[in-house]
Amino acid sequence: MPASITEENYLKAIYLISLQGNGKIPNLAIAQQLEINPATVTEMLRKLAEKKWIQYTRTEGASLTQEGQILALKVIRKHRLWETFLVQKLGFSWDEVHEVAEQLEHVQSEKMLDQLDQFLGYPRFDPHGDPIPNALGQIPRSDAYLLSDCKAGDKKTFVGVANQSQSFLQYLDKVGFKIEDSIEVEEITDFDKSMHVILNGEKRSVFSARVCQSLLVV
Ligand SMILES: [Zn+2]
Repeated sequence: MPASITEENYLKAIYLISLQGNGKIPNLAIAQQLEINPATVTEMLRKLAEKKWIQYTRTEGASLTQEGQILALKVIRKHRLWETFLVQKLGFSWDEVHEVAEQLEHVQSEKMLDQLDQFLGYPRFDPHGDPIPNALGQIPRSDAYLLSDCKAGDKKTFVGVANQSQSFLQYLDKVGFKIEDSIEVEEITDFDKSMHVILNGEKRSVFSARVCQSLLVV
């Protein structure tokens, strides 16, 4: 039996939280990620543990088994491929694809997914710059770091967003700053860590510290 939509969402949530690097994931973190009541989490986690997709104890929390991780990566692969498809082929903007991909990520057809991957030319990153796991579950490595870790004089390329909220993505659209654009840090204001930047070698702008902490560059 394939995992249900709810089960897939749990596995994906556990995987995404585990990327932040803290071993076992407590119930509360899973509830927050899924935006649900913590009281309802325990029962589902027990069920996932019974199916051997996670290891779970109430005191320590949950971690994915190898089988659980494969399932989680499959969902993420679907999500990110669909986001890429929606932007590249259907003309969606990058701030409106997430909600649609949340639904499409649960379509069960291995064949469709592989064809979609091929149709898109095996993309390695989605429109937000997130790595797309390949059919074997391997994830392209990204050496990206936050713009806020750069120093004055650095010349970088914008490769992804660490904040995928609609308001932030719309802000970047308004500034006219897109993935693959270049950015040069001209000066960092000591007082509030805002950055004076030059975009694509010509357009001057000032990015707040919060914006700098939300942009990934290489
Ligand atoms: Zn998304």
